[in-house]
Formats: sequence, C-alpha cells, structure tokens
Amino acid sequence: MASFRALVLHEEGGKVTPRLEEVDDARLPEGEVTVAVEYSTLNYKDGMVLQGVGRLVRAYPHVPGIDFAGTVERSDSPAFNPGDKVALTGWRVGELQWGGYAEKARVKAEHLVHLPDGLSARQAMAIGTAGFTAMLAVIALEKHELGGGSEVLVTGAGGGVGSVAIALLAKLGHKVVASTGRAELKPYLEGLGAAEIVDRAAFSAPPTRPLDRERWDGAIDAVGGVTLATILTQLKYRASVAACGLAGGSDLPATVIPFLLRGVNLLGIDSVMCPKWPRIDAWQRLARDLPLERLDAMTEEVPLSGVMALAPKILSGTVRGRTVIDVRR
Ligand code: NDP
Repeated sequence: MASFRALVLHEEGGKVTPRLEEVDDARLPEGEVTVAVEYSTLNYKDGMVLQGVGRLVRAYPHVPGIDFAGTVERSDSPAFNPGDKVALTGWRVGELQWGGYAEKARVKAEHLVHLPDGLSARQAMAIGTAGFTAMLAVIALEKHELGGGSEVLVTGAGGGVGSVAIALLAKLGHKVVASTGRAELKPYLEGLGAAEIVDRAAFSAPPTRPLDRERWDGAIDAVGGVTLATILTQLKYRASVAACGLAGGSDLPATVIPFLLRGVNLLGIDSVMCPKWPRIDAWQRLARDLPLERLDAMTEEVPLSGVMALAPKILSGTVRGRTVIDVRR
C-alpha cells in the first residue's frame, strides 16, 4: 500500500496535538484528483487551525494546510491530466477536509486551477491564499473606479496579504502608503514598492467624528475593527476600501455618514468560495502583474517539520511576508 508523509493533528484531551506521520493512501478523502503536493504555505487561518483556535476543524485526525501547489498524479476528471501543474486555495480545504500539509492531497476537480504559464509551484505558493486575496482586492478596487496613479493605503502591510498588495499596487503605478506596527520593516516595505510608511497607531484610536480629512483614493485593509472604521472616515469622495481581514478585530465601530455624504464603498473580499472564472482571472493577473523578484524578497521557506513553531507567530502578527512550506522536507 502506498503512503505519504503528512502533518496530522489529533485532538487529545481537548488539546490539538500535531504529529508528522506516514499515512496510507487509502485514508485520503474522496475527490477526483490526486495531487503530489510540492509546496503549501502558512496563512493566518492555518495558524488558527494549528493552534485549535476558532473551531474551524470539525473532525480529527486532520491534515491542515489551506492551500497547496503541485503536480496531478491521478485524475478521474477530464479537466486535469497526470503531470498538470495545479494549485488550490480556499473551499475550506485544510479546515473541513484534509489540506496541503502533506505530500499528497485528494480534492474535487472543480476546486483546482491550472497554474498560469510562467509560475512555478513554489511561486504560486509564495503568492498563496494571502496573495490571491490581495489580487481580488486590487481587482475589486479597479472595478470601483480606482484610477491610474492613485494613492492607496494598505494596512497589515508587513503580513502576507499586505505585502503582496503593496507589490501589486506599486507595479500597477499607484502610490502605496503602507501602515505597519513594525517600524523596523521600513526597508522591507519600501523594497516592495511602498512610497510612504505610516504607524498603524494612526488608525487604532476609535474615530471621534464621522468624517475626517479626505486622504485615500483607495485602501486594502487586512486589519478590520477600528482601523477599517477609521479608513471609512478618510476615503475620498466615491473611493473604496476592500475589507480582507480581521487581524485587529472583527467589529466595525463605524457610522453610515461616509456612505451617505461621500458615496464611499466598502467592498467585501472573500477568497474561499470565490467562483471559478474570477479565480482563474485573478491567477492570470498575478502571473502578469506581480513582480517575481519582489515575491522572492517577501518569501521565507520552511520544511513541514518547522511549521508548528510558526503558528503562534502568525497569530501574534510577527511573521513577515509569506512563508512557503516545502512538504517534501
Ligand atoms: P498575517 O498575519 O501575515 O498579516 C496580518 C498583519 O496584520 C500583521 O503582519 C500585522 O502587520 C497586522 N496586525 C496583526 N495584528 C494586528 C493588530 N492587533 N492590530 C493591527 N494590525 C495588526 O496574515 P495574512 O496576511 O495571511 O492575513 C491577514 C488577514 O486577512 C487575516 O485576518 C486573515 O484571516 C485575512 N484573510 C482573509 C482572506 C479572505 O478571503 N477574506 C484570505 C486570507 C486572509 P504589521 O505588523 O505590518 O502591522
């Protein structure tokens, strides 16, 4: 019987315990396509799953990893052939079903995308769920009148979503203002293309009035809470903020005044259930618009055995950029 190596989470005495194990192929979940996984990544949600936070996983033993890229090994779907290079993000893989922290994954064909030409499996995962989300946010802003050469705020700048958003927006010719709590990241963020760095403390006090000075042509927010509420008070007339994350909180202590008096837009970004065509479109855009040398600069690589140590770090917001996981090491 063939087997593969995986990071398996067990629930023991109400506690989630990880073990690197050899798993029989027969234990793979149902699905039309079996993928030889090459790389997975570490996202905020992976941190939650690894730490057993938020009850995202319903059944143990569980293989985490909300995204992966690799090569099709076997396919019962006409859409994929053995040897095809593929990636998966979202669809609650790594939460409700086994994910990418393994040398093998079996999934539904409709959840996979072919890698765009020119992107390796490692590069696709350096982008991963966070980068795909950043691309969806940029596309959403463009659909809502973001003009060329705009001034765009990116919050949670040092994280995965923020880092890719900066590199994309700068490449597209926008002036990017990066908000971070880590002043020491200035050279890193400027290297990605940020024109200006602001202290995230500027967005962390609840707004005292419903409208502030108009500052931003657009914004990509990974933080939520008071930060998002503050951005709403500072958007220029008809400008939009793409809400991607909740690293700073899930509440929204805002008023409707900016919507009514400035016609601003709050755009929701969901990468998980994003349908197939916008998904393929976003991957094509990433292959075209994301400067790969900047992607390299924001990426760290760790072996599968190193991922547990990083879980608390991503939840505390101290991981920089993107972390790819070589599941074969
Ligand atoms: P990271 O942990 O890599 O980045 C989050 C960043 O937010 C941190 O690096 C930090 O940036 C900042 N931050 C952390 N804690 C706080 C805080 N208390 N107050 C203010 N800022 C804080 O995570 P990701 O980039 O992977 O994800 C970012 C968010 O987006 C998460 O909430 C995640 O769940 C969400 N997400 C949503 C998706 C969707 O489909 N909508 C898909 C992917 C992610 P700095 O140090 O620079 O300030």
